[in-house]
Amino acid sequence: MKYVVRSRGDHESNVISQKIKNYLQEFQLIESKEAPDIVISVGGDGTLLEAFHQYNHRLDEMSFVGVHTGHLGFYADWQPDEVEKLVIHIAKTPFKVVEYPLLEVIIRHYGEKKSERYLALNECSVKSTEGSIVMDIEIRGELFETFRGDGLCISTPSGSTAYNKALGGAILHPSLASIQLAEMASINNRVYRTVGSPLVLPQHHTCLLRPIKEADFQVTIDHLTLLQQDVKSIQCRVAEEKVRFARFRPFPFWKRVKESFVTG
Ligand code: NAP
Ligand code: MN
Repeated sequence: MKYVVRSRGDHESNVISQKIKNYLQEFQLIESKEAPDIVISVGGDGTLLEAFHQYNHRLDEMSFVGVHTGHLGFYADWQPDEVEKLVIHIAKTPFKVVEYPLLEVIIRHYGEKKSERYLALNECSVKSTEGSIVMDIEIRGELFETFRGDGLCISTPSGSTAYNKALGGAILHPSLASIQLAEMASINNRVYRTVGSPLVLPQHHTCLLRPIKEADFQVTIDHLTLLQQDVKSIQCRVAEEKVRFARFRPFPFWKRVKESFVTG
């Protein structure tokens, strides 16, 4: 089995990464940056998001596992004092994998035939570069509402505990292949009207955002921010691809939610 260790780059994460590499070499495992079977991310959830984007072209051939240094980790759920145990697991036992749904985002531009395609592990957010955004929201090809407000956030189930949660969205279990659309400060009065509640869409229910007039936006895909000009549409749906996490012990999603947000 081939592995790669990715560190956040701070001193503590670098020390732990080196320790993991040394152990894995003792077990005669092979390091491979190009084609790892397992990616060990040492840092925080942000570090795991970066690792995901580095390897998002070979998701069906590999699994991720995260060790957290410093912060509570939602994806990075192993503690630094457990790395010996983790390494022995990686070296000796065929691990189970859990698969989580991803969000597919396709951005189309005026005057361009080619579209851009992204995969998000947490979410895509759309904001204006100036003032509020005004967009028609189509669901399954039908106009649902015209949104006017600060922005929109379309998240995955595992991303529902991140930005989406801060926007009042629900926490969704990752076994639900779905995406959630949450509003950021919608303008609601006699003239403008939106549903106001977050919407959860199942697989194959495409959500299309069509800008009205203004066409420049600040779009984020997880930790990445993109300036998008002359946007014709932003299409969101549950991706065909999934992300795999290596599971060496049971750590149920609701337990992670409890330990991260309630008591832990
Ligand atoms: P960051 O500013 O360090 O991230 C914000 C916080 O979100 C960090 O504490 C991060 O954990 C945590 N986080 C990331 N994914 C999570 C998940 N799935 N569930 C629960 N918490 C999660 O930036 P970053 O580390 O590059 O992460 C990018 C993410 O920040 C975006 O995908 C977005 O979800 C989130 N964000 C949140 C807000 C908000 O809540 N108002 C605003 C913008 C962006 P670590 O400290 O372990 O990295
Ligand atoms: Mn972070």
